[in-house]
Amino acid sequence: MHLNSKTALNLIERMTPEAERRLWDEHIRKCRKCAIKLKDWYALLGWVKRSQLLNTREDALALVKKIFSMDDAKVRSDAA
Ligand SMILES: [Zn+2]
Repeated sequence: MHLNSKTALNLIERMTPEAERRLWDEHIRKCRKCAIKLKDWYALLGWVKRSQLLNTREDALALVKKIFSMDDAKVRSDAA
């Protein structure tokens, strides 16, 4: 099973229980796809937290679309 958007956000916001977080840390070291996804979410949250820079809004929207299209195309079938 790969990271979905909710799990990625929980990891970044440190809402994930310790044991589960360790499993994801291990997975992300081996799985390039999830590593990239987590990095994208970090970037997105960075933009959101600097939201006074409104000229990055288009970039943030493009990134959100990319992340959610990855969920639709890949993660769902991998998790089955
Ligand atoms: Zn993965």
